[in-house]
Amino acid sequence: MLIATSSFELTTTTVVVSSARPGGCLLIDPGVTVAELTRLAAELAERGLAPSAAWSTHPHWDHVLWSAELGPAPRYAAPAAVTVAETERDGILDEMQRAAPGHDLSLAGRLRPLDGPAIPWDGPEARLIVHDGHAPGHGAVFFPGSGVLVAGDMCSDVEIPLLDTVAADPIGDYRTGLERLASVPGVRHVVPGHGHAGDAAEFRRRLEADSAYLDAVSAGKLYGDPRLADGPEWMRVTHEEQVRCFRP
Ligand SMILES: [Zn+2]
Repeated sequence: MLIATSSFELTTTTVVVSSARPGGCLLIDPGVTVAELTRLAAELAERGLAPSAAWSTHPHWDHVLWSAELGPAPRYAAPAAVTVAETERDGILDEMQRAAPGHDLSLAGRLRPLDGPAIPWDGPEARLIVHDGHAPGHGAVFFPGSGVLVAGDMCSDVEIPLLDTVAADPIGDYRTGLERLASVPGVRHVVPGHGHAGDAAEFRRRLEADSAYLDAVSAGKLYGDPRLADGPEWMRVTHEEQVRCFRP
């Protein structure tokens, strides 16, 4: 398993190499800039790899990117995520063009709905844990063979929980997501969509930190999460909006 980190918000791209078919790989959330996707495709080619399948953890612009150089692999996401990628396509592409201009927009966000327990591909078993909270149909991927949990935009060491504030029960959805991830047996490594990979103890620490954050926000408290002190201005602004939004 290979992990690449983007210059944009420490975004991680996870590459899982196939054990059954030499040359195949599963690509999760390839990102983020045009130059980085070109480099990713070149690095895969240098290793004799080509994507045989891809997974987008959720329908935010920085997780639904693709380039022609990555080839024609099927790109999957959970059904609710695909619905958002289609119905909110214009907004997603707008954000993409502002933050990372130059992508082939005909390829961005073109995802196939996958409603099943695992990603269909010829490599290590890739179990899906689908929930809402950060975005509709957020799908983390767990590899029981290696104990790696690819957590998408959950369990970050650098970002506070970012809530889907238009949902009916954003905090409840997020708590359900954390509970589902916490109940995955055998997590030995966590790979967040933004930030750094961590071990089992770090995974538990992040679940607790996110739960404490939700407790504070749902109580309307401006909370001194260390990720806010070290993070960018947009995250402090978003935090204040979340506090206002959920003030009881
Ligand atoms: Zn996101």
